Amino acid sequence: MTILITGGAGFIGSSVIKRLLKTTEQRIVNVDKLTYAGNLETLKQVELDPNYIFEKVDICDKKELARIFDLYKPTSVMHLAAESHVDRSIDGPGEFIQTNIIGTFNLLEVSRAHYDKLTQDEKIKFKFHHVSTDEVYGDLGFTDKLFTESTPYSPSSPYSAAKASSDHLVRAWSRTFKLPVVITNCSNNYGPFQFPEKLIPVVIEKALSRQDIPVYGKGDQVRDWLFVEDHAKALIQVLMHGVLGETYNIGGHNEKANIDVVRTICKVLDESCPKEDGSYSDQISFVQDRPGHDVRYAIDASKIKEDLGWIPEETFESGLKKTVEWYLSNQEWVDSVKSGTYRHYYQSQRGQGDINLNATL
Ligand code: NAD
Repeated sequence: MTILITGGAGFIGSSVIKRLLKTTEQRIVNVDKLTYAGNLETLKQVELDPNYIFEKVDICDKKELARIFDLYKPTSVMHLAAESHVDRSIDGPGEFIQTNIIGTFNLLEVSRAHYDKLTQDEKIKFKFHHVSTDEVYGDLGFTDKLFTESTPYSPSSPYSAAKASSDHLVRAWSRTFKLPVVITNCSNNYGPFQFPEKLIPVVIEKALSRQDIPVYGKGDQVRDWLFVEDHAKALIQVLMHGVLGETYNIGGHNEKANIDVVRTICKVLDESCPKEDGSYSDQISFVQDRPGHDVRYAIDASKIKEDLGWIPEETFESGLKKTVEWYLSNQEWVDSVKSGTYRHYYQSQRGQGDINLNATL
């Protein structure tokens, strides 16, 4: 059995790969373009695992994708590759349209051609799992009901609009071409190995370097937070046991206002590495709000609990403590991914052909 995972060098994909290699015998083919957000340093602990293969491929390159499918003949696909940062989508939406929409279209087309060639037995086992976000549902007022799987789509940012488009494509390929698909829509993830541009790692980094900690507007936007390893477990559960054609919402039952998240991080830092001159929360600085900023996201994750028995294991407090401690002990990783050092090292070593990472470039 071979699971082809796109975007496996990113924050969530790498967590899924590590868990799959630890808990199953599956062969994993990681297809990743290695954008600024993809870092092989994150996968260092598995790079020599005989069941792990890395392929540096852009999902916008259909010919290359077809080559990979012919070579590895995947029995399932988990699609995580995406441009994923809302602020970047506002500064430059083009890459988001390319990767999230055109890239997904390519992957669907190549998967369809592959699926059509499978035997009846292989077809029964094949699944295309599309990993998406709760941001496709738009935002909620403070007293509105939670997002369910039947909440109409109403995306606000170029990122969420591109992800919503990709979800629609996946459903259309299921309905029209009978490609066997499942879709998951998850809330905000946090945890170790998150690229230091998202809220939680940014706050930790700014706090430790004694800079202002920027908070958009009044910091009253509410998000539901899920520890990344809980998300990885949910994704594997859906891949293995999800019902074809279904959508599953995934969430942490942890609705928090951004300002409360920031204050909690400061509190954990005050305890773990106290400053001599006051609290880290003194560094909080309110900045102009993001355009079109959604007020609240909140997920009803009861379907995945009832149908597949998944519930998150970490509370926000326990997950955040683990995350802060991880960043405190892994500043080298932060420096390496920000500078791209490992990526450059890896590529130059591969060019000389003197290390074996079960990978091709
Ligand atoms: P990430 O930005 O950390 O990683 C994305 C990965 O995709 C990177 O390794 C990058 O190199 C790769 N990639 C980007 N463009 C590519 C291309 N054209 N071809 C091949 N690879 C490419 O993202 P993440 O936070 O790990 O998110 C993974 C998925 O989960 C995304 O689809 C995202 O929309 C979804 N999601 C994320 C969150 C969250 O809070 N981070 C929540 C819900 C859903």
